[in-house]
Amino acid sequence: MEGTVTDTQTNANDVDVDSLVDSLLRDFPPASTDEITFLGEQFDRGLAWLHFPVGNGGLGARPSAHVRAQGRLLSAGAPSPRVRNGIGYGMCAPTIVTHGTEMQKARFLRPLFTNEEIWSQLFSEPGAGSDVAGLAMRADLDGDEWIVNGQKVWTTLAHVASFGLLLTRTNPSLPKHSGLTMFLVDMHAEGVDVRPLYQMTGEAEFNECFFSNVRINDEYRIGDIGQGWQVSITTLMNERVSIGSSPLPRGSGPIAEAVELYKTHVAGKSDARSQILRGRLLDLWVRAEVVRLTNQRAADGRRRGIPGPEGSVGKIAFGEQNQEIYDLCLDMLGVNAMVYSGTYEFVRPNKTAMGSGDVKKSFLRARANSIEGGTSEVMRNILGERVLGLPGDIRVDKNVAWSDIPKS
Ligand SMILES: Cc1cc2nc3c(=O)[nH]c(=O)nc-3n(C[C@H](O)[C@H](O)[C@H](O)COP(=O)(O)OP(=O)(O)OC[C@H]3O[C@@H](n4cnc5c(N)ncnc54)[C@H](O)[C@@H]3O)c2cc1C
Repeated sequence: MEGTVTDTQTNANDVDVDSLVDSLLRDFPPASTDEITFLGEQFDRGLAWLHFPVGNGGLGARPSAHVRAQGRLLSAGAPSPRVRNGIGYGMCAPTIVTHGTEMQKARFLRPLFTNEEIWSQLFSEPGAGSDVAGLAMRADLDGDEWIVNGQKVWTTLAHVASFGLLLTRTNPSLPKHSGLTMFLVDMHAEGVDVRPLYQMTGEAEFNECFFSNVRINDEYRIGDIGQGWQVSITTLMNERVSIGSSPLPRGSGPIAEAVELYKTHVAGKSDARSQILRGRLLDLWVRAEVVRLTNQRAADGRRRGIPGPEGSVGKIAFGEQNQEIYDLCLDMLGVNAMVYSGTYEFVRPNKTAMGSGDVKKSFLRARANSIEGGTSEVMRNILGERVLGLPGDIRVDKNVAWSDIPKS
């Protein structure tokens, strides 16, 4: 898997994670250090992504060292860019470190990690979501600049983003996967227009983004011309791991919210409805634990260099299980579930609503979990084809010039 890292990577340095973490926490106690200073120091000491190269926020260490350091820092109350800059931290940074130039790594990784520059992912378009390789946004070379025109959609946090990873079409006469090129785009450049999309949670965490003659210098192209698909694979692989397969402590996350509601609204009652709710909770708790252990096994496999099918299961399980858990939460609330605690006033959040602690909002937001980062149907196609070896999906346009593919 391009762009994912394992513990068997060659030249991985052995580092004393615990001493490095202890000294960071001693020199900059999280409780009395502001977020930018702490994260900047973490980056400069190579503790941002320990498996990244020295000078890029890492120490060239094994990925397991990175996981251990993050766990220790979070338990000590250290800030994490994952909260406000999840797309930047989990998806854009691995793409930049894998495919970027030295200038791009030096310019972008540190302020991304410190949350001074928030990042977004500009792949999906109105006619290209699951089939993202079919996208239409054009980039045409003019001297040493590219001129970009078109529309993106569902762009999470674009309204607070400084930069974005932008996938464009640079050669329409090639088949759809071949004529794509990726850029790092300044979201405040002239010609970028970000408009909110109002969600049923009452918030607008994502946007549609219109590009009209936006100029991007060629030095902000990431990867070769025509290699945009290969670059995007790195982003998408990291997206699925970052959304669905990050191992959590036992009994934490959405299932913990369901257990809390059970204690306050159902426990101690012996009527038939309460018995059924109890049975559903137990069933979901066991399944959540099975998924957690499967994710743990997948993560261990990745570290040892054996990426297995478990990783592909994580995204499907995350989406569908979250929806079932929040269905149960609302059933436990009974009639109270009908009153939405949020308001429908227009809100522009600076982080996504996942894990907001409000189960009614999470119930509404969880509908998106089986769509974002690839729908469950598409994930099943991937599992069927790449893991089980079943016959492939029908792809009549695979070898046809993109410009000759009929469009609606
Ligand atoms: C909350 C949220 C945040 C998002 N954030 C971002 C973001 O930051 N950046 C970004 O670029 N995109 C983002 N997206 C977009 C997301 O990646 C797409 O919505 C997703 O890939 C599906 O594409 P689509 O919406 O165009 O649906 P479509 O691709 O049109 O799919 C419609 C339906 O057809 C089914 N379908 C399509 N193809 C197949 C197939 N081959 N086999 C079987 N069934 C199929 C789908 O499963 C779905 O049910 C976000 C989406 C959501 C919901």
